[in-house]
Amino acid sequence: MTTGFKKAASIAARSLASGKPHHAQWLVTRKCNYQCLSCNVWKEQDQRELSVDEIKKGLDILKDLGIVELVISGGDPLLREDIGEIVDYASKRFVTTVYDNGSLALQKIDVLRKADFVAISIDSLDEAKNDYIKSVPGAWKSAIQAVETLHREGIEVSVTPTISQKNIYEIVDITNYFTGKGIPVWYCLYSFDTSVDINQLFRIGKANEEFVITDKKAMVNLCNQLMEIKKKNKKILMTDKLLLALRGLYEEEKKRTWKCQALNNFLVIDHIGRVAGCHSHNFAASIFDLPKKWKSQEFKDLRRTYNECTKCNYLCYVFYSIYGSPSGHLALAKDQWRNAKLLFK
Ligand code: SF4
Ligand code: SF4
Repeated sequence: MTTGFKKAASIAARSLASGKPHHAQWLVTRKCNYQCLSCNVWKEQDQRELSVDEIKKGLDILKDLGIVELVISGGDPLLREDIGEIVDYASKRFVTTVYDNGSLALQKIDVLRKADFVAISIDSLDEAKNDYIKSVPGAWKSAIQAVETLHREGIEVSVTPTISQKNIYEIVDITNYFTGKGIPVWYCLYSFDTSVDINQLFRIGKANEEFVITDKKAMVNLCNQLMEIKKKNKKILMTDKLLLALRGLYEEEKKRTWKCQALNNFLVIDHIGRVAGCHSHNFAASIFDLPKKWKSQEFKDLRRTYNECTKCNYLCYVFYSIYGSPSGHLALAKDQWRNAKLLFK
């Protein structure tokens, strides 16, 4: 049996198993070479990291737990010298996406060839504005060059703008620009960490007035427009269900249409192997203790707390919460079949 076939079959089986977590996000390093204005990660650097062998052991644990999709992020994960070995190991077991800020993708293109998907963040078509947001001159040029080269080389690269007040009026243009070149777009939503837990695992979003979405009508319109464009444009990776949930947050009568599925359908792991339902809560276990903790009373209690929590709108958490029910698992399973088919290429 080829590796691609074995992986596709294993992914399909895990996708269809109910009662298992689906998605994990592993922030394999805190190191970052950018200083984005809306982010705390670069301000809170930590040189500690798990070794590559520890990460491999952790990845085996995640596979046994039933995880199907893995996001490798950071900081910038490509800053790790051993990232090639990590991506190679991960992508044989999961539908694996690697995040990069666009600075290192070209240098590490052979690493990225091993991933199923690569996501590169570009927040504006206006070079100066993008570089201001990233606080790095030249960020835009590197990211554009990286995205275009990866796409040309047949690597499944997507662009991930973070929607904020700074770029809300150009999200449609950004979408049309990249999807017009055949490059898919997925979005993040600017969010900042409120004090959910004083001992939170780590902080990502930094409160910054410039980014907070104040034009709520524009956000509602944007969701409507994207749903309309999506009818003809298959390169917009967001589902209607997610866009409707997002729209609900900005309508006059704010609606939150989902219950959080942290530590149920998804989990996060930090650079030293601590696991939490999401980064805004304290860690609940070490990755190495996860098998014995997963079905514990302690985890059941935590799931109940997270389920009631409404403190954040980080879009990836919203997405995996919306698809956290049995019917959601089926919808994701369908999606995974599509991804699995891609793996045969
Ligand atoms: S948003 Fe990403 S690229 Fe920017 S500083 Fe934070 S971790 Fe680094
Ligand atoms: S809503 Fe869920 S993901 Fe967001 S802070 Fe609460 S538990 Fe974490």
